[in-house]
Amino acid sequence: MSARRIDGKGAAQAIRDRVAAHVADFRQTTGRAPGLATVLVGEDPASAVYVRSKNRATAEAGMVSFAHNLPDTTSEDELLQLVIDLNADERVDGILVQLPLPPQIDATRVIETIDPGKDVDGFHPMNVGRLATGLPTLVPCTPFGCLYLLKQELGDLSGLEAIVVGRSNIVGKPMAQLLLIEHATVTIAHSRTRDLPSVVRRGDIVVAAVGRGEMVRGDWIKPGATVIDVGINRLPTEDGKGRLVGDVAYDEAGQAAAAITPVPGGVGPMTIAMLMRNTVVAAHRRAGLKDPEGI
Ligand code: NAP
Repeated sequence: MSARRIDGKGAAQAIRDRVAAHVADFRQTTGRAPGLATVLVGEDPASAVYVRSKNRATAEAGMVSFAHNLPDTTSEDELLQLVIDLNADERVDGILVQLPLPPQIDATRVIETIDPGKDVDGFHPMNVGRLATGLPTLVPCTPFGCLYLLKQELGDLSGLEAIVVGRSNIVGKPMAQLLLIEHATVTIAHSRTRDLPSVVRRGDIVVAAVGRGEMVRGDWIKPGATVIDVGINRLPTEDGKGRLVGDVAYDEAGQAAAAITPVPGGVGPMTIAMLMRNTVVAAHRRAGLKDPEGI
């Protein structure tokens, strides 16, 4: 392993510290703390862990968290009404509806009902469109965190060949938009891509967001590339506990890459840090203040 290990945990903590400082200033200026409402429908254990961490991070940054935990029998109308109420609630600057939602609820309708100014996940079509046209917006947290790590590692991304594997609305597509804004030459690969290893081998930057444990092998990586691994996969182990791995075979890829994110401790902590960042930014915009600097 010759690659540098990109410390997402450390970078995330630095962002959260800066967010906390901006929260303190915001409180002083407006007399209130920014607020984040989280909505969890059902009892999916992974979702419950994510939402708990998000609420904890909100409190640690000095913000107010409003946690709404609803049963998995909640109807679409009930959830839409809650979102409408949160849109109207002056104490709430950010609304996060944890996905996936139970089958009786259309996630698209829910996302489209969130006030775009409070859409701290950046999934509302208006925010997606603003990102695609290069306008200021709220950017999806995971790809925004990946971009932060890439810029920290490489500085100027202009002209670099970037390969994004995965085209989801949550990670792959916004990641590609962000890299394009930074003037990288971007390729989006997916399950129908022909000869994926050769496509990935072109990348000065590789972002893997697939959901298949260790799919990207060491000999797919161009020597000197920077690799960002978004995947979170649990591989079975003999003791039954399972082993958490990314979409990239870390040890192999680390032989060729110049720098690589670990799983865990890479992109994961950045997602929460960027959610905190988006919430404090949304609060500033709603209060008519200019965006906080340095985050
Ligand atoms: P997703 O919606 O399932 O999308 C997966 C993408 O990978 C799709 O575009 C799919 O292509 C592509 N794909 C699947 N199999 C492939 C193959 N054999 N070769 C090439 N491409 C393939 O997943 P997601 O929401 O983007 O998440 C991806 C991974 O990131 C998951 O492991 C997830 O747990 C993780 N994640 C982590 C964080 C974090 O905070 N660290 C946040 C979000 C997601 P098609 O479109 O052609 O089907």
